Amino acid sequence: MSPRRHFDLVLRSQRVVLPDGEQPAAVCVSGGVVAAILAYDAPASAARDVELGSLAVLPGLVDTHVHINEPGRTEWEGFESATRAAALGGVTTLIDMPLNSIPPTTTPDALAEKRATAKERISVDVGFWGGAVPGNRSELAGLHDAGAFGFKCFLADSGVPEFPALDAVEFEATARRTAELGALLIVHAEDQHALDNANRGAAAPVTQFAAFLASRPDAAESAAVAQVLAVARRTGARVHILHLSSAECLALIEEAKAGGVRVSVETCPHYLHFAAEEVPDAATEYKCCPPVRSAANRERLWTALDSGLIDFVVSDHSPCTPELKQRTTGDFAIAWGGIASVQLGLPVVWTEARRRGWTLKRVAELMSLRPADFVGLPHKGRIAVGCDADLVVFDPDAQFTVDGSALAHRHPLTPYQGATLTGVVQATYLRGRVVDDKPLGKLLRRITSGPRTAGPSGPGEAAAVAPEEREAVGT
Ligand SMILES: [Zn+2]
Repeated sequence: MSPRRHFDLVLRSQRVVLPDGEQPAAVCVSGGVVAAILAYDAPASAARDVELGSLAVLPGLVDTHVHINEPGRTEWEGFESATRAAALGGVTTLIDMPLNSIPPTTTPDALAEKRATAKERISVDVGFWGGAVPGNRSELAGLHDAGAFGFKCFLADSGVPEFPALDAVEFEATARRTAELGALLIVHAEDQHALDNANRGAAAPVTQFAAFLASRPDAAESAAVAQVLAVARRTGARVHILHLSSAECLALIEEAKAGGVRVSVETCPHYLHFAAEEVPDAATEYKCCPPVRSAANRERLWTALDSGLIDFVVSDHSPCTPELKQRTTGDFAIAWGGIASVQLGLPVVWTEARRRGWTLKRVAELMSLRPADFVGLPHKGRIAVGCDADLVVFDPDAQFTVDGSALAHRHPLTPYQGATLTGVVQATYLRGRVVDDKPLGKLLRRITSGPRTAGPSGPGEAAAVAPEEREAVGT
């Protein structure tokens, strides 16, 4: 080997966030992958050699919970705007949710339509979840084979008519099917009966945040989580709790994990940042389901992240038009539930993490490494030789004030408006190339690893897949 190797790109930083910690290093890239990690001042020749000093280099974020809504509800959000916002926020891989687009991604044809719509228009790499709805169980194998990363279902009204919830019988049958396929079953865990009970006799409109919170109680989440865990126990399905908001569920999850149930859990930046006590009445931009809860609840979520009981943090970027957010009526009951935040997740979580004395390495685990492992993408979410050179240049000390109109999301309405956050994304590299206006993103398929039953079984267990066994990644 020559003493002076040649690379396409070298990024030198005093703060490179590697899987085993933060250290000075030179990240050397060739052919879109990390080719070497050398000492900070190691000699190397490169087409571009960038000296970043004390700016940090993080692995690109892997956001496994994004609603792009295209085709069909493109006025809410679309591939170009969502992936541009993602790149500006340091997200280099995202997995699109199967609902709010029309058609929903509940058949192989619908998945093909999604892929055709996204192709050559995306700024970051994009994969797709499939959907499990009443009546489409026979479609799941086809979606799985076509590269869907797993299946999302609801246990309560999803908010859109074309994506109904599963009842208890259908949910258990779906879990048996996903267990046979070796596929992930990811669940919006709120229980419809508990929601109905909480809303019986409620007055309209609902303009007080406290009244909205009472309409989506902790009990609705804990009933659904208990159901999901019981079904996972009976079927052996690998289940995942989406957007956990209620800390009242943590004891159930802890018991299940200790008992060997194959369950993982995510939470979202808004649950880690906002507190119900601080939400103004009629401020429907804060509406999401399940809702933002108390400050005490928020602290319990942080404790659960610290212990690993909650596995990772993803955005649940779920935009809609300002009209559907009911800004004029301030009625939480009819406003669309969802917070657009794919561009802000990293600074929101870093602002809160730093305040609690957390390191960048731990934030990178929560937002890059573990979500990549969760969906079986071992070449994403970490800065390591052989992995995609998805890199974020991040100033962890700089502050900025959120201006919704300056975000690349389709709509500027955001509950973060005016918030001062710490941590600025200065540049994002996708496979070694700076993300700018060119659509450099590729479409991703689930990586297969031999027999269906031999797939990865949970966060922290990276898919042990040799590169030559990867199937059609990045097509
Ligand atoms: Zn969602």
